[in-house]
Amino acid sequence: MTAEPRRITTDVAIIGTGLAGFAAAVFCLDRGIEALQLGHAGALSYTTGYFDLIGYDGGRPIADPWAALADLEANWPGHPLARMPRATIERAFRRFTQAIGELGIAYVAPGAGNVRALLPTGLAKTTCSIPATMAAGVAALADGKRTVIIDLVGLVGFSAAEFVANFAADWPALRAARLGFPDMDGGGEAHPEVMARALEVRATRERLAERIRAVVGDAECVGLPAILGVHAPDRVHAAMEELVGSPIFEIPTMPPAVPGLRLRELLEQAMPARGLRLVSQHKAARADLRPDRIDLTHRDNFGEVVVEAATAILATGRFLSGGLTAERTVLREPLFDLPVEQPASRADWHREDCFDPRGHAINRAGVIVDDDFRPLDAAGAPVHPRLFAAGAILAGQDWVRQRCGAGLAIATAWGAVEAAAGVLGR
Ligand SMILES: Cc1cc2nc3c(=O)[nH]c(=O)nc-3n(C[C@H](O)[C@H](O)[C@H](O)COP(=O)(O)OP(=O)(O)OC[C@H]3O[C@@H](n4cnc5c(N)ncnc54)[C@H](O)[C@@H]3O)c2cc1C
Repeated sequence: MTAEPRRITTDVAIIGTGLAGFAAAVFCLDRGIEALQLGHAGALSYTTGYFDLIGYDGGRPIADPWAALADLEANWPGHPLARMPRATIERAFRRFTQAIGELGIAYVAPGAGNVRALLPTGLAKTTCSIPATMAAGVAALADGKRTVIIDLVGLVGFSAAEFVANFAADWPALRAARLGFPDMDGGGEAHPEVMARALEVRATRERLAERIRAVVGDAECVGLPAILGVHAPDRVHAAMEELVGSPIFEIPTMPPAVPGLRLRELLEQAMPARGLRLVSQHKAARADLRPDRIDLTHRDNFGEVVVEAATAILATGRFLSGGLTAERTVLREPLFDLPVEQPASRADWHREDCFDPRGHAINRAGVIVDDDFRPLDAAGAPVHPRLFAAGAILAGQDWVRQRCGAGLAIATAWGAVEAAAGVLGR
């Protein structure tokens, strides 16, 4: 005998637990709209923690991202951010960074311009909003402060000596120091996440702070790899500053790293407490478009579950997360089999030179939507009036080259939620 699948109804089903999916969930809850979200680990764990809005144009850093948005239509016709009013993008981006703060990780509110934030290899990147634990690093770089960069014996993904060497011309007042992390200094490999969880214990903080104090010397501030706790990093950061007696900033390590893990764990724990129905670690295996709803089927330990959604937002990301797949000669969207805008042949996916400054056509491939973020069929009509898409899956953008990952995810999630709310009469 085959058991009948269990059935759940929801106003909005959000497919994907990346930045776009969680941003959509935040905006649904803000509007009092019932939402159910499902998805697996995706690209979120890889981010530096920085929220980029739009950072680069043709390889050149953008100082004023808000002005750059206004120029986007001319420079990138068809870009998803170019079809939204600048004020709406700003409202969405500010609300999301504020919401992350309310949930438990403080972010520096986006300002009038981009900032130069630190990367693990001793380079700076242009971004819009950064975690509060990293803010002193932006100021230290801008002012060229005397700073000691610390790495830890056995730590994977960060070298203070490399950081200092690469910044030598830009930031001469840097020096490097290597310390043993309490109880992990035996010479074996150690991962940032393990150190971050250990620093949630006061005794470990006290022991590490004592070792840091011994190397501060005349430094005005201290740079550490991002290991200051997974939960409540602001509390761990403040406690360490007090124990060391100097301003401290975190530097993201190589992905996957603690800042992304923090965001994932925060959102997974705090959002259900605010009313989101989160089906984590499960992917929608099948989607059925009904006349007045969308059915999404997944399987848990007890069998099949069908989510009957009045509206659905597809936020399944690109190749890394499984939102797009590349077959031998064609790119596909595997869940709904939506048309994917793509180069005419596989030979056109990539340019000859991997580092060609014009980028690769495959990175602009994706799902085409209308101004209400509804995916379009081959004839240019909405595939279904209740289906929307948001985030990196969208066509017409190249978030890696433009450094617009978070901005694209957040703004288009806002647009998709607004359109879904319209269908729901909310
Ligand atoms: C190495 C790296 C570094 C990055 N650094 C930055 C940075 O510094 N700043 C920045 O702004 N952005 C950064 N990003 C980009 C950012 O993390 C996101 O990739 C981007 O914002 C897109 O988010 P998304 O939600 O659209 O897609 P993703 O984050 O890829 O999320 C897609 C989600 O959909 C889920 N999914 C897929 N198929 C299904 C299905 N059938 N059913 C249910 N769920 C499904 C996946 O499990 C995943 O949870 C970085 C990304 C990478 C890979």
